[in-house]
Formats: sequence, structure tokens, C-alpha cells
Amino acid sequence: MKKLLISLTIILSIIAHFSFANDDYQPILNQAYQKYKSDNKGKVASYIPSLAKYSPQLYGIVLATADGKIYTVGNTQAKFPLESLSKIFALSLSLKQDGPNEILDKIGADATGLPFNSVTAVEQSTNHIGNALVNAGAMATVSLIKADNGNNKWDLIMNNLNDYADSKLEINQDVYQSEMATNQHNQAIAKLLQSYGHFYGDTNEAVDLYTRECSVDVSTVELAKMGAVLANSGKSPFNNKQLLDSKLVPYLLAEMTTAGMYDTSGTWLYLVGLPAKSGVSGGIVAIAPGKFAVAVYSPPLDNSGNSVRGQETIRYIANQTNSNIFITKDKP
Ligand code: GLU
Repeated sequence: MKKLLISLTIILSIIAHFSFANDDYQPILNQAYQKYKSDNKGKVASYIPSLAKYSPQLYGIVLATADGKIYTVGNTQAKFPLESLSKIFALSLSLKQDGPNEILDKIGADATGLPFNSVTAVEQSTNHIGNALVNAGAMATVSLIKADNGNNKWDLIMNNLNDYADSKLEINQDVYQSEMATNQHNQAIAKLLQSYGHFYGDTNEAVDLYTRECSVDVSTVELAKMGAVLANSGKSPFNNKQLLDSKLVPYLLAEMTTAGMYDTSGTWLYLVGLPAKSGVSGGIVAIAPGKFAVAVYSPPLDNSGNSVRGQETIRYIANQTNSNIFITKDKP
């Protein structure tokens, strides 16, 4: 009987291994690339002057599985600044330091229904912040991160980004200088939050650190690897570091679901059904929990700030892989 059970377990694990190994995502990525490569809708962001220099032609797709396989097509090594994508990793640090209750209390998890840098949202939302993924909440999150001084705080933020990406990332100095010279709007938001008692440190320091994290360059491969940590319950399948306790990952994914795709997060959820985050540089990363992360880079944006081709591509891939988190029937 014992022998029979052991043989059965071995057979089942072989079947499980091959059914996962057979998940070949490459054809789906290639189809998406062919389908959308000539789509030229949208506009490259220019409110941060140095972002306007990026070619609208750049287009890369990378899928990184929860067990560490990588599929790529297009310009997947081209570097671009994280911009708002950095917000999810700062939130990861803060969740780790403070836990979900303090994050809910001090930052929040509600959609603002307004653009990511809205001053009206700061004035009108109940806790004046909304959530960790609008600019107000992201800067407040940076102010909440605990370290002895600004330099140590930056080291924490940067090391965390490196661990997620399994790489040695660098600040794009051109983007950083360009945004520091033009970020008066963000400075005003930080001061306004401070006036409501919802900022947790020096505003100048937090705006600077926030702008620095937004200026860190990644490739689409690196972004997908960062997402794979969240698809794999907080553990990098590439360096095996547990970067966020698995119990905390759902809180991070919830914030992404509520507000990751700016003020059209509801439409995104309705159409695609995956937690995701986008940045004004044109990157988007979406998470299929337990399965994979898919990252797309394509600079032209829609009016809300989401990459046009990025959205189309991920919607196609989510559909073809049956990954919508609300689908419970006919899952492979
Ligand atoms: N650094 C940008 C800003 O603060 C990030 C915006 C974004 O990607 O949503 O405006």
C-alpha cells in the first residue's frame, strides 16, 4: 500500500511537472507583438521634459513565470525609468516595516477617481491621500519608510529595487535632473498633505527620494522579474530572496488592483482582471498570482497615463492564458 502511494505521488508529480513545463507562452507573446506592433495611438509623456526624448517605436514584451522562466519579444533590453512603477516597491518596503494596519491608517487603499497627481483628490478624499499609488500616497509612503537618515533611506529603497530586479539598477541622471527641475506640482502636493498632518517626514527629502526612485532605469526583462516576485508570493524565483512576506503580498496586489492603472483602474479590472501598475515612461507590469508577471514597454500613453500598446498587449495575453483572477471555471 505504502509503495503504491509512493509510486502514485511520483507519477502525479511528473504529470504536474510536465503540465507546467508545457506552458509555452512564447507563441502568445509573438502573436501579441505582431498584432499590436504597428499601433501608433497615444502620445509619449512630455510634462517631464526628458521623457519626451524616448522613441514611440520602442516596444518590448516579457513574461516571467513564478518559477523563473522568461519569455521575450521586441526591444526588451531598452532601458526606461520606472516612474510610477517604483511606487509598488516603496509600498512593499513600507508594508514590511509597518504592517497592513498602519498602511491602511496612514496611507489608505481607496481609489480617488481622479488623475494620479490631483490636488483636488488631496483636498477631497477622506484621508487626504487615497492610496499608495497616486503621487500623494507614494510620497507619503516614502516619508513613512524608517531609516536613520536620508542616505540610509535611499540605500533601503535602492537595495530593495535591486533585489526585486535581481540586478544592479542605476538612476537615470538626465531624467532625475529633468524631473527635479520641474516637480513643483509634486512639492505642492507634499506640502498640502503636510498641512493636513498626513506627511510623515521632511517634505523636501521625501520629494527628492521619490523623484530618485522614479528615475531608476530598468529594462522590460528587469521589470518582469520584479513582477515575478509578486506572482511568486513575495519570493524572487531568480535570487530566492523572500522580499515580502507572502501574507503581505495580497495587500500590495490590492492597492495595484484599486489604483495601479491610474483613474482607469476600474475599466482595466473590468476588461483584464489582473492587478497591474503602469508608469508614465510607458511601462506596465501585470501580475497573474501564482503563474506569471507580464511586463510591456511602449512609451505612447493614453489620456490617463497608461501605455496604449501595453494595455492592449496585456489584455490579449491575459485573455489567451485565461488568467483573469475572477475566472474560476475552465482554468487550465
Ligand atoms: N515621477 C512621476 C511624477 O511624479 C511619476 C508619474 C507616473 O509615472 O505616474 O509625476
